[in-house]
Amino acid sequence: MNNLDITFHTDGLRITNQRKKIIDVLTPFPQGVLDIMGALAKKQIKIDKVTVYRTLDCFTRLGIITKTLFNDQTARYELITKHHHHHLVCNCCGKVKDFPFEDNYILKKVGKQTGFQIQSHTLEFFGVCGKCRKAKI
Ligand SMILES: [Zn+2]
Ligand SMILES: [Zn+2]
Repeated sequence: MNNLDITFHTDGLRITNQRKKIIDVLTPFPQGVLDIMGALAKKQIKIDKVTVYRTLDCFTRLGIITKTLFNDQTARYELITKHHHHHLVCNCCGKVKDFPFEDNYILKKVGKQTGFQIQSHTLEFFGVCGKCRKAKI
C-alpha cells in the first residue's frame, strides 16, 4: 500500500465518521444549516460548513433527507420519516408545523394531465399561526 492509499483510506473513514455525526443531529422536522451546525457544536463536534452542506446534498440525493426551501430562501433539511407530510410555516414567528395532507388524488391528476412522472414533491403552506394571530389582536 503506498502513501496515497493510506491517505485515501483514512480520508474515507473520516468522511464516514462525519456523516454519522451529522445524521445523529438530523431530525424529522426541518432544520436549517445553522441549526444543524448549532446541534453539532452543542455536542462539541467541529465540522466545517462546506462539509455539512456537501453531506446534506449527498443525503438528499440518497433519499435520506428532504430539502425544502421556505420563503426566506433558506434550505431546511429533515429526515424522511414513514409518513409523508407537508408543512405549515408561520410568516410571523417562523415556526414550522407538520401537516399530513392526502394528496394522492392531486398527484394522479397532475400526472394524467401532463404525462409527467412525479417522483417527489414538497408542499408548504405559508401564513400566520394561531399563537401569532392571537398576539396581534
Ligand atoms: Zn407564529
Ligand atoms: Zn404530498
